This record gives sequence, structure tokens and C-alpha cells, in this order.
Amino acid sequence: MKRIGVLTSGGDSPGMNACIRAIVKAAKANDMVAVGIYEGYKGLMEGKMEVLTTNYVDDIIESSGTILKSARSNLFKTEEGLKLAVEQANKSGIEGLIVIGGDGSFRGACDLSQYGLPVIGIPGTIDNDIAGTEYSIGADTAVNIVTDTISKIHDTARSLIVDMPRVFLVEVMGRGCGYIAITSAIAGGADYCLVPEVPYDIQRMCSHLQTRFDEGKLYSVVVVAEGVMSVNDLKKQVDAILNIDARTCVLGHLQRGGAPTAFDRLIASQMAVKAVELLLEGKTNRMVGVIASQAVDSEISTGINDKNKISEKIVRLNNILIS
Ligand code: ADP
Repeated sequence: MKRIGVLTSGGDSPGMNACIRAIVKAAKANDMVAVGIYEGYKGLMEGKMEVLTTNYVDDIIESSGTILKSARSNLFKTEEGLKLAVEQANKSGIEGLIVIGGDGSFRGACDLSQYGLPVIGIPGTIDNDIAGTEYSIGADTAVNIVTDTISKIHDTARSLIVDMPRVFLVEVMGRGCGYIAITSAIAGGADYCLVPEVPYDIQRMCSHLQTRFDEGKLYSVVVVAEGVMSVNDLKKQVDAILNIDARTCVLGHLQRGGAPTAFDRLIASQMAVKAVELLLEGKTNRMVGVIASQAVDSEISTGINDKNKISEKIVRLNNILIS
């Protein structure tokens, strides 16, 4: 194998650049050339690509987003699109492809491999909802950003003394997986957390907050994963039950920016090297992950069909800490 391609697809996540960098370096270490494909599968079909040199990627480790850009394409989901993509890969001498993205991108990777192009998937999504790995690239950075935000809210909350207790509702990303919400709630010392995996009762949550206020607490921070409900809907209920005017904060895309944490850079690099090795071993239709600090691989269908959910252990920990 002489040439491998790399693309980023779907939602971007901090650490994707570190991953691209490590793929380029691992390719070089194995006497191969890495070709960067711009704008995901769309760019692959359009032949938007260039060889990436180690000099070019050396400084990208500390920046978020993806230098290759990411995109979504419906054409790629069709037979016409897939054929076009394989044609372009063949024309450019790309003998294997590494796709960094979420489960949607993994579905595309799986389809591509059926058309004869060896493909390896690397999980890149802040939600950390992909099975087959304990961590996906970007999740740790997102958790750190939310944790930092909770601390900032605590700073102002403890300073201003008002007549009634104050409640701050923070909405974070996570449609089906409450990983960001629960880990940042624990690390940030929030007072309550609502995640999609755990049944909730707003009345019970408010009673808990009221008990803490009765004990003398002056403010509370509640973290809610977007998959549970919007922070505005939550506010309506909380305001009505506690007879207050809760403050809301939606972090949105702030969770995807900023410098990737050292941990995200590390796992991104680890997974990149593993992906290159798998291609060299002639593997295809596999995904890479990190489990117990080791880079591992599994069928790409693992990441497509199964979803990571937060563990009972972490739910139990959270329950103890909010009491
Ligand atoms: P993510 O990878 O973050 O989950 P998307 O779901 O938006 O992001 O998927 C990114 C791209 O992957 C899509 O624009 C499409 O080109 C490709 N893709 C998504 N789902 C499929 C599918 N079911 N079959 C083939 N390709 C898909």
C-alpha cells in the first residue's frame, strides 16, 4: 500500500486535527503517503484532495475543528455517489481510506467498503455515544468546556445575594447519550442533572432543590442534556413549581470549539496509528476505539448499530453527589 486517504465527515469535533496529523505521520513512518480529502464524502466524490506533508500538519494538533473541513452529502448515500467516490479514490491511487466521524459517517464507510475500497472508521463526536470505544474524539474537550462553564456560573451565583434562591439551568449537547451532561455535572459540582438514559421527575428535582434552599443553599445549577428537553421548557416547569425566575444557558456550539484537551489529542493520535496499522494488515470495515487505555478494533457495525449509554456506575456516583 502506497497511498491512503483521510477524510472528516459529519459533525466536527475537537481533536480531529490531531488525528489527521497522526495519520500523516504514521503513513510516513510506514513509507506511505497520506492524501487529505476535503469536505468529507462530498469532496471525495468531487476529487477535492491533496497530499498532506508532515510539515503541513505539524502545527494543527492544538486547533479544534478540522483542516479538511467536514460536510454532509445525500448523493453519497446513493449507488451513483458511492461509485463516484470509489472511482475518484482509484483515480488518485488511494488504496485505503480512514474516515473520522460519527455513526452516520460509519454507515457511509461501511457502504464504501462493500464497493471494494478498504475503509477504517475512527469515532469523532463530542457526544461519546459510539459503541466499541470508551471515548470518542472530542468528548473530553466538550466535558471540560461544560465543567468550566459550570464553574463560571458558580462564580457569579455565589457573589450576588438576592431575596430568593437562584436556579441556573444549563443545556448541553447529547440527544441520546447523557455523557457530556453527567460527567460535567459531576466534575463541575452541579446540583442536579437530567440525562436521556435515566427517567426523571421535575417535581422531585424541584423538591430536592427546595430542600437544599431550606438548608441555606443560595443557588443551584442544573445540567440538562438536550435529548431530555430544551432548557426553555425546563424553565417553564421549574419556575411554576418553585415560583422563581430561573436563568438559562444554552452552550450549543461553544462545546465544539477551543483547544482540544491533552486527552483528546492523545486518544486521537493513538486511534490514528491503529487505523493505519489496520489498513496495512489488509483489514477493512473495522472501527478503532480506545478501551482501558489500549487502541482496539471491532466490526464497524458495532459503532453503527450499538450506542454507548452512560454506565450505572456513573449514574450511582452522580446520585450520591447530588444528595
Ligand atoms: P455523523 O457522522 O456525525 O453521524 P451524519 O449522520 O451527518 O454525521 O453523516 C455524515 C455523512 O455520512 C452524511 O452526509 C452521508 O454522506 C454519510 N451517511 C450518513 N448516513 C448514511 C447512510 N445511512 N448510508 C450511507 N452514508 C451515510
